[in-house]
Amino acid sequence: MPYLNITEVDSAVTSLATAYPATSALIDLPEPSVEGRICHALRIGSAPAGTKDCAVLIGGVHAREWGSCEILVHFAADLLEAYATGTGLGYGGTRFTSDQVRTIVDELELVVFPLVNPDGRRYSQTVEPMWRKNRNPANSGGDPARIGVDINRNYDFLFDFTQAFAPSAPVQVSADPASEVYQGPSPFSEPETRNVRRLLDSHPRTRWFVDVHSYSDDMLTNWGDDENQSQDEDQNFLNSVFDHRRGLGNGTYGEYFPKDDANDAVDLAQQFCEAVRGVAGRTYTPKSAFHLYPTCGTSDDYAYARHFADTTHTRGAILGFTVEWGDRAGGFHPSWREMERNILDVDAGLVQFCLTAI
Ligand SMILES: [Zn+2]
Repeated sequence: MPYLNITEVDSAVTSLATAYPATSALIDLPEPSVEGRICHALRIGSAPAGTKDCAVLIGGVHAREWGSCEILVHFAADLLEAYATGTGLGYGGTRFTSDQVRTIVDELELVVFPLVNPDGRRYSQTVEPMWRKNRNPANSGGDPARIGVDINRNYDFLFDFTQAFAPSAPVQVSADPASEVYQGPSPFSEPETRNVRRLLDSHPRTRWFVDVHSYSDDMLTNWGDDENQSQDEDQNFLNSVFDHRRGLGNGTYGEYFPKDDANDAVDLAQQFCEAVRGVAGRTYTPKSAFHLYPTCGTSDDYAYARHFADTTHTRGAILGFTVEWGDRAGGFHPSWREMERNILDVDAGLVQFCLTAI
């Protein structure tokens, strides 16, 4: 089986909803993509919607990271099929019992959105394999080299990076439309980003958020702007006293991560990595996103930032994670044979993540 094209990803999602009506349902995302494509997510769970804590999993954000869609489609299909047939799941040496499968589907609500950026994936699969962004021409001035926004820099987290970060911080973001990490003109300027926000808004019991990317064999936790610290709650992204000081990782600043949440995040990331290792021995590394490189406007930090920024204090905390599957040797488009191994690795990790979360 080769990589799925965008029609096939969407039909896989809709087919699962049709095949497993007792445990899944199709979610229509409110906004079409820039090029007018309708997007779908899949809700998984045997309990009535809204009655269990929820994990939202997204993929297909960066267009060239093809396998993320397949990882999430297989994850959903595996859980739904195993639950329906009363069987367990095996991923190489990592195995889950039928009781564990049942616990996940009965005790969690899962929202799986495998293809956030259909326009970008289509362009990557048919024209320019290394394309990363969406295909929004609005800020290009008619120059094809300036098309597109990096969806994973377009969320509302320290968006004004020239103010938030130290001038010398190597933050991976740009206000130049020609850049691969162009953030867009304003937070949530892109329909693809707004669709993800809608999933979080419409599932208020969301407690975990996972964005599936490639590549570096990592499981990243919050935060991405600087080192984490749990001692000083005044050192946080909302506090302008620390503007022009973030992103150096030298102790000048540390993003506040309350200890209980930090411990939970590390435990979830470690157990994900242990399950991956059990499949065929591959080593994924749990670490905070800053240790990949400093960022702002990313989905995982936005997800966790929401409850800190909520002045009504009604939102629960959502721990944010980014999977970076695969390694440099495989690159963004590993052979399908290699991709099948990546799917086993990451899906074992995601199933364990769900079990640990409950
Ligand atoms: Zn990515």
